[in-house]
Amino acid sequence: MRIGHGFDVHRFDDSNEAFNGLSEKARITLGGVLIPSSRPLLAHSDGDVLIHAVCDALLGAAAMGDIGHHFPDTDSRYKGIDSRKLLRHVVLLLMDRGFSVINVDSTIVAQAPKMAPYIEAMCQNLANDLTIARDAVNIKATTTEKLGYAGRKEGIAVHAVTLLDNG
Ligand SMILES: [Zn+2]
Repeated sequence: MRIGHGFDVHRFDDSNEAFNGLSEKARITLGGVLIPSSRPLLAHSDGDVLIHAVCDALLGAAAMGDIGHHFPDTDSRYKGIDSRKLLRHVVLLLMDRGFSVINVDSTIVAQAPKMAPYIEAMCQNLANDLTIARDAVNIKATTTEKLGYAGRKEGIAVHAVTLLDNG
């Protein structure tokens, strides 16, 4: 078995454009779920910081580098991309090398918005993309008691760990 760890942070977009009231922008994507938010997250992709951390954990467990190596943010093909496509691609890369995913656990670190109503849908999306059972996926959310960059609502961080079986 192989263990992997992933960590990612995205900052909230504080530009005037982010505040211009476009409902399209007033949401973020986490685990493939759209969540109302006062500001979007800055990103080259859709900014799905949860999926990015999970991809890094999977690639880490397989000793295959990181998400930036496989999907560089200088590549226009990945501009605004649905991060679930990246996750499904990572799963294919792992399968090619004989790995299967045993489980994934993760923690979203955010002072806002509230995550609880969306956790189950995120878990379902991850289980589908990882082609594993729903009960092999766990997503937790915590604030930092208003401490640090997450506590000041400057951004959202995610930690993820995974276990792979390499037969
Ligand atoms: Zn990211």
